[in-house]
Amino acid sequence: MSAIEVHQFACLSDNYAVLVHNPATAATLLIDAPEEGPVRAALAETGWTLTHILVTHHHWDHTQGIAALKAETGCAVIGPAAEEAKIKTLDETVGDGDVIHPGGIEVRAVATPGHTLGQISYYLPEPGVAFTGDTLFSLGCGRVFEGDATMMWGSMQRLMQRIPDEAKIYCGHEYTLANAKFAITVDPDNAALKERLSEVEDLRKRGVPTLPTTMAREKATNPFLRAKDPAIRSHLKMASAEDAAVFGEIRSRKDNA
Ligand SMILES: [Zn+2]
Repeated sequence: MSAIEVHQFACLSDNYAVLVHNPATAATLLIDAPEEGPVRAALAETGWTLTHILVTHHHWDHTQGIAALKAETGCAVIGPAAEEAKIKTLDETVGDGDVIHPGGIEVRAVATPGHTLGQISYYLPEPGVAFTGDTLFSLGCGRVFEGDATMMWGSMQRLMQRIPDEAKIYCGHEYTLANAKFAITVDPDNAALKERLSEVEDLRKRGVPTLPTTMAREKATNPFLRAKDPAIRSHLKMASAEDAAVFGEIRSRKDNA
């Protein structure tokens, strides 16, 4: 039985931020701060008081609201140790495998470098949710800006190992429809993917978020988690390639799509 509440809301043109509230301690965590206005509105709507911000990575569209929110609320800001020099507002840093308890909520840090070198994903066993920033999207993954394909594939594997199938996954952006249209080009015979594509088309027509997703669903449909899949390898004519090379080929096709 989970009393912890999760509230997702839109920011900027296609970002999401999320509030996680623990009624037992009255603490409220914000995951990423794309801009302060929608966060203020979400706090007003829920009646929650911000106590902590968890930051996934240094990009401006995940951090630019932090300074104002910290000044207004005195909240503590927690983020990747490896990006401490780039995120000036951090009060506390975390690295891979760290377990912290902000506001009495267990938070496990998973290092997921590739999009940026220090990116951290967060898994909260209670209520069973993960925040993967710009590393894992529904049916996609982030562009590999600072790392390389081998590093990003390592991050995909770490997420698959440490986040349970039933966990709900929240991501930094609403990119699912474009991702679905690309995914079907590398995995055209995947029935679960075809079903997800039509579901996503319907959700977006109605303006409904496609997130959160689940780890089980992503394992079944997200080509960036499926570099080992024989059908995808056969389609790419990479039957005997290394997994990271298959991942890199899919990422490169998406970059050029
Ligand atoms: Zn980013």
